[in-house]
Amino acid sequence: MSSSKNGVHILIFPFPALGHMLPLLDFTHQLLLHGFKITILVTPRNVHILDPLRANYPSINTLIFPFPGHPSLPTGVENLKDIGNSGNAPIIDGLSKLHGPILEWFKAQVDPPKAIVYDFVLGWAQDLAQEVGVPGIVFYTSGALVVSIIFEIWRNFEGYRDLGLVEFNGLPKSPRFMREHLPSVFKNFKEGDPAWEIVKNGIIANGRSFGSVLNTFEALESEFLGFLKKQIGHDRVYSIGPINLIGGPGRIGKSNTDDDGNDRVFTWLDECLDASVLYVAFGSQKILTKAQMEALAIGLEKSGVRFILVVKKLTAQQEEQGFGSVSEGFEKRVSGRGLVIKGWAPQVEILGHRAVGGFLSHCGWNSVLEAIVAGVLILGWPMEADQFINAWWLVENMKTSVQVCEGPNSVPDPIVLGQRISESMNNDLVKEGAKKLKDKALEAVKIEGSSKRDLDFIVRELAQLKS
Ligand code: UDP
Repeated sequence: MSSSKNGVHILIFPFPALGHMLPLLDFTHQLLLHGFKITILVTPRNVHILDPLRANYPSINTLIFPFPGHPSLPTGVENLKDIGNSGNAPIIDGLSKLHGPILEWFKAQVDPPKAIVYDFVLGWAQDLAQEVGVPGIVFYTSGALVVSIIFEIWRNFEGYRDLGLVEFNGLPKSPRFMREHLPSVFKNFKEGDPAWEIVKNGIIANGRSFGSVLNTFEALESEFLGFLKKQIGHDRVYSIGPINLIGGPGRIGKSNTDDDGNDRVFTWLDECLDASVLYVAFGSQKILTKAQMEALAIGLEKSGVRFILVVKKLTAQQEEQGFGSVSEGFEKRVSGRGLVIKGWAPQVEILGHRAVGGFLSHCGWNSVLEAIVAGVLILGWPMEADQFINAWWLVENMKTSVQVCEGPNSVPDPIVLGQRISESMNNDLVKEGAKKLKDKALEAVKIEGSSKRDLDFIVRELAQLKS
């Protein structure tokens, strides 16, 4: 196993959304385990997300720059969870204003970083790395299929621009998607808008990075990893996932949460039969409207299945805007058969409990990988971003998931939803597929597994950089 005995200094630059930060912090954790000296760049309101990692590694240097802001962001918003996906381009644009200050900081260092590892939506950091003369390493928090599609979209933007159904015939398996199911970088792109131009140029710049690290594994996406290597023109495309499985003392970035006492959840799960419980959660950002929440609640009730439902704590403003939670009446009615967690749930731990057999999920990439690791069936309700693509891959190709609803605004028929839930939880074929994929994920991170091998490769590359 390679390691950086002389503590090669690496700058980590995460994008401030939990679905992005947590896996990059997991990768950072791996670099720390291999002896690298780490500086993590964040803005003030995101510093606390580093606390669990810093508690274990006090040597981490935290580089804090004030968030430069953006005209379309309310004051104080520095993390996507405070605003939702509409904040992507403005936050990226705002952070790009740190280019100059970071350059100055580099120049002032006695031991400046020898590489920058940056989140893939911050592709402008690749140009920064070039300017300071160090390798830029792009960390992708989406799967290889999605990254392939994003590359392909920018290669042929004009060709795809006006299509309702977009066919990617140059890609393995020739995926095709309705326009509204493609990532927002494509759907929402506004030519000439400075924020969107920065996003677009960043994606293109990622193709020039020294190396690409993806939180995926070969048995899940080998065709697309191969496609990416061809597109990029070299083999420094490292699939090291599922990153939170790859060793060391678990996911340190995780426990920094606002959970409200989850012991009762595990006590309850301990009493349930194996694989009998459905876990229902929609990632770190998505909140449901009142109508969606009602339909979901009735669907769960009608399904007859045991469940854990995670609902976010809503602000008064969100309630006024029509977002909803579950009623106390509901909690009482389902008492014994269903549990509601209000706030942050210990998702990885819940999915890993033997009693959990299914995951009704928005198919965010981290949730997908966590379900795979747990060997549970996904009941997909893709809503936005890369979720439709993830769901397609799992349902149509890997056959480890079923789709039960789709779209950010759909309100499912509760009776149909209830039926789909109960049928899916008894779908032995898909359940078997999920178990087999779990075994492959476990293989990937073992000694000589594909992800372990790729982690060793990237560690070796970085360790060779001279101090
Ligand atoms: N997560 C969690 N508890 C919650 C909500 C989310 O632990 O109550 C974690 C989840 O385990 C995953 C991440 O937050 O690691 C969400 O990432 P994902 O890609 O699934 O969705 P996103 O939040 O990016 O939409």
